[in-house]
Amino acid sequence: MKWLRTCILAVAMAVLTAGCATEEERLTQAFIDQHVSIVDPLRAQTNLTMYSAEVTGEEKHFAKLKELRLAMNDVYTNDRDFEFLKQMKNSGNVSDHRLRRQLDKLYLAYLDSQMDEQLLKDIIELSTSITEKYNNYRGHIDGKEVTMTEIYRIMTTSKDAQEHRKAWLASKEVGNVIADDYLRLVRMRNKAVGQIGYANYHTYSLATGEQSVKEVDRIFTELDELTAEPFAKLKAQLDKILADGYGIRVEELRPWHYHDPFFQRTPLVYELNLDDYYAKHDVAGLCVDYFAGVGLPVDDIMARSDLYDKEGKNPHAFAEDIDRHGDVRILANIANDERWMETTLHELGHAVYFKYHDPDEPWLLREPAHSFTTEAVAMFFGRMSRNATWMQQMLGLTDSQRAEVEKVTFRYLQFQQILFARWAMVMYNFEKAVYADPDQDLNTLWWDLVEKYQFVQRPKGKPDAGWASKLHFTVASCYYHNYILGELLGSQWHNYIVRNIFELESDANVSYVGDDRVGRYFRDEVFGPGAVYHWNEMILRSTGEHLTPKYFAEQFIKNTHK
Ligand SMILES: [Zn+2]
Repeated sequence: MKWLRTCILAVAMAVLTAGCATEEERLTQAFIDQHVSIVDPLRAQTNLTMYSAEVTGEEKHFAKLKELRLAMNDVYTNDRDFEFLKQMKNSGNVSDHRLRRQLDKLYLAYLDSQMDEQLLKDIIELSTSITEKYNNYRGHIDGKEVTMTEIYRIMTTSKDAQEHRKAWLASKEVGNVIADDYLRLVRMRNKAVGQIGYANYHTYSLATGEQSVKEVDRIFTELDELTAEPFAKLKAQLDKILADGYGIRVEELRPWHYHDPFFQRTPLVYELNLDDYYAKHDVAGLCVDYFAGVGLPVDDIMARSDLYDKEGKNPHAFAEDIDRHGDVRILANIANDERWMETTLHELGHAVYFKYHDPDEPWLLREPAHSFTTEAVAMFFGRMSRNATWMQQMLGLTDSQRAEVEKVTFRYLQFQQILFARWAMVMYNFEKAVYADPDQDLNTLWWDLVEKYQFVQRPKGKPDAGWASKLHFTVASCYYHNYILGELLGSQWHNYIVRNIFELESDANVSYVGDDRVGRYFRDEVFGPGAVYHWNEMILRSTGEHLTPKYFAEQFIKNTHK
């Protein structure tokens, strides 16, 4: 009898709870069901076609892909649907957490397509034509055309400062060719989002990615404070080496002396060739063993994936959640060297995030919390390829081999990480200023920021638009900050696992090899929930703190005083 009463109560409670749903919640749920029934198969078909296109390079797949993408686009340009979502959102009556998250995501997905259609077409056309101009342009050295490969070769191998200067200038020419078109594109983008109520395209881009300018500014300001002094020290050491190499004084160093057109990569003076250590190993096999050991098996992913180089195939790498029902793949061109070790670990990091989304969560929330959070997981695992402890355990290095690796890798990694952070500050702050006021003196602003963050002295004379030779401004606009946010979060998780799960004082000798507590942590706290929580809340839940640059600084800045 007691059992019966409890049971009826449970049923009544269930009815009561169902009854609690508001009219708007019921309507929203019905809309979602209908929407997913269309988008789920369409998205899977699109991804499968994309994957075949990338593996084979065959035109028929690309043609089909274009069709499918247009069909997908049609779903999101429906005005009536957008009005409905807006109404539901503004009603304030959709309060169930998961329903609300799905509604927010859908709203943002539709928002993109609410801009003036003609203007959107013009924007796509202009950005395509800029990319074409960029791809077809060749810089000049002594009147002769040179490719970017040639420019990089000179900048990384020549000992002659004059040659460096010529190569650097050649790399910047294209910026002056496309700058006016790019600024036209900026004004068009601003106009398009102005029509739907945003101050400018930068603000809009961050908002549709569920980020705010204020929040990213706060993180970047703190990161600037944490890295300025250590970077100054590391760079002073580098400057000495470079100046000695060219036979000039440190004060004479200019942007072309730094081995990279934008000084975003560490000059080769610290480069260490780790390829010898990997040459006799099977990179794919190492990945399978490693991920199995941390409790995130990837055999099924590897079996479905196209892993090796072939004619017509995309020469890079990516990971894709094909259907949100378990078909996860990577594309790679694995060779047994350090770069592919890093890349394959990185892509499998993305892949396990996809694979372990909780299948019981709503379809719309079965995706990473943000593109930078999946980047963070990928970086977390990718960093292992240069980790001396990891290399010793996975490759069976002797203690003396390990010591040899350790001596150089940490210094390299440290410099690269801090340098990249400083470079990302230039990119972020510049782009923010471009969209806020495209008519200001951007050429001067660029060098103000380079001097402020990268501590590189501007060349003499009137500055030109060489900055526009960074194609990211055109094709991956307002995205650069996410690379660095990913690095910060990777370090924040690393710290949390070391201190709170392994209960260790320091991360010396931590490689995670064979420790499935890592996998359990990520599955429970990060992968499982997917996008159920806003990225900000997910980070707070999984680390007890909001996103902070503190642990990135701790991981890479220690020992700069030595
Ligand atoms: Zn990635």
